[in-house]
Amino acid sequence: MILPIKKFPDDKVLRRSTEPVSFPLSKDMLKLTRDMIDTVRQADGIGLAAPQVGRSVKLIVINLEKNGLPLFPLYNARVVSRGLKKIELEEGCLSLPGIYGQVKRPKKVKIEGQNMQGEKVVFTDDGWVSRVAQHEIDHTNGVLIIDLIKKYSQGEELVKEWKKKKLMQ
Ligand SMILES: [Zn+2]
Repeated sequence: MILPIKKFPDDKVLRRSTEPVSFPLSKDMLKLTRDMIDTVRQADGIGLAAPQVGRSVKLIVINLEKNGLPLFPLYNARVVSRGLKKIELEEGCLSLPGIYGQVKRPKKVKIEGQNMQGEKVVFTDDGWVSRVAQHEIDHTNGVLIIDLIKKYSQGEELVKEWKKKKLMQ
């Protein structure tokens, strides 16, 4: 089932903290996982986090099928270490249509989480998975790219307006 994607600043769920997911996965969590996979594919997104579909849980989906990687969900994901080298890349977000800008993040990160079976998953990456995982993990902590962008390529006026109206939180 395709789920509606929550947009900032209309939906405060994007700023809320999230609860850890417990195992074995409940029927509800299995359905949410399936629905998020359908939704990220349909939206042609490279990643999606549960708050973006209105759920305050630590679940993200990474969809780099176009880069030849299998789509996968990750539960309770967190960055456990960061490389010193940072790089700036343009990012957008399905919850922030029309907003794009340069975001500086560590190039290489080590990420820990759990797979659908609840098994611990640990990986280190310095490419697209690193970038997308960092963006999606930020969502599970209520952090959005508008908190990180220093230089906008699109949508700066909108963000200025939100700041003026104090809608950034
Ligand atoms: Zn996003």
